[in-house]
Amino acid sequence: SGVSCNDLEKLHVLGHGNGGTVYKVTHKRTSQVYALKVVHGDSDPLVRRQLFREMEILRRTDSPYIVQCYGIDEKPSGDIAIVMEYMDLGTLDSLCKKFGTFSEEKLAHVARQVLNGLGYLHAHKIIHRDIKPSNLLVNKNMEVKIADFGVSKIMCRTLDACNSYVGTCAYMSPERFDPDTYGGNYNGYAGDIWSLGLTLLELYLGHFPFLQPGQRPDWATLMCAICFGDPPSLPDGVSGEFRSFIQCCLQKESSKRWSASQLLSHPFVAKDVRSDLAKP
Ligand code: ATP
Ligand code: MG
Repeated sequence: SGVSCNDLEKLHVLGHGNGGTVYKVTHKRTSQVYALKVVHGDSDPLVRRQLFREMEILRRTDSPYIVQCYGIDEKPSGDIAIVMEYMDLGTLDSLCKKFGTFSEEKLAHVARQVLNGLGYLHAHKIIHRDIKPSNLLVNKNMEVKIADFGVSKIMCRTLDACNSYVGTCAYMSPERFDPDTYGGNYNGYAGDIWSLGLTLLELYLGHFPFLQPGQRPDWATLMCAICFGDPPSLPDGVSGEFRSFIQCCLQKESSKRWSASQLLSHPFVAKDVRSDLAKP
């Protein structure tokens, strides 16, 4: 369907994910540039399963806030490839490393777009489950899009076993570890909002909020901090709107956390700023 791998020429590697490789490619006839994610046929069955899940979700989604998929190829060799929209400024993680921590204005711009993407996904009963700076891609029009659906979940019923152990542990919400304490009226969508709150805080601080700068992540310490500690908060000197927005995302009790559509009307993001993310 759509753009086929045979029409594409590899330019160079953009990055290696967990099991797969992403290339920058160009279309031989149209010269259009794409990103191509390839997982080899002899790779781990889990990795292949994740790519099939990602394919299924990309097939179902069509939103300016979600990375667009233009074609899917399965080779006789067993290699699987996804042709995606090329996001030329890379990830929020790399932009933060390159240009330094994000201002409130930049973060409001990021938050609004990611919330639009999450609003779309949640309305379509999809939980992303791995929202973090390296899974949010940016292009030169300053559009921010959600990528990497390898561990996402399509909800069949409202109370599904969506609590399984997937995603990047550090960004997992308290109810993912301890649903009895923090998951009153369990709603899996709220986990994505927690991860968004941590992501914005990390881009503001320049380090992962539950760790000191340079501290090595240690799984047990992190889990204790997430479940037993206070939620991380902003230092002095930020606007009241930003502080309140982060608090709405980082409620430990999942039912108290705001939804994507509620957050879209929060004063922090309600102003339609369009901030240049590719400068200090
Ligand atoms: P993880 O397994 O932790 O999710 P990852 O996010 O790095 O790792 P991938 O989603 O496979 O794994 O992506 C690898 C890298 O390729 C990304 O970090 C990003 O730099 C780049 N990349 C992925 N998709 C695109 C795209 N559509 N446009 C531009 N660059 C991309
Ligand atoms: Mg990723």
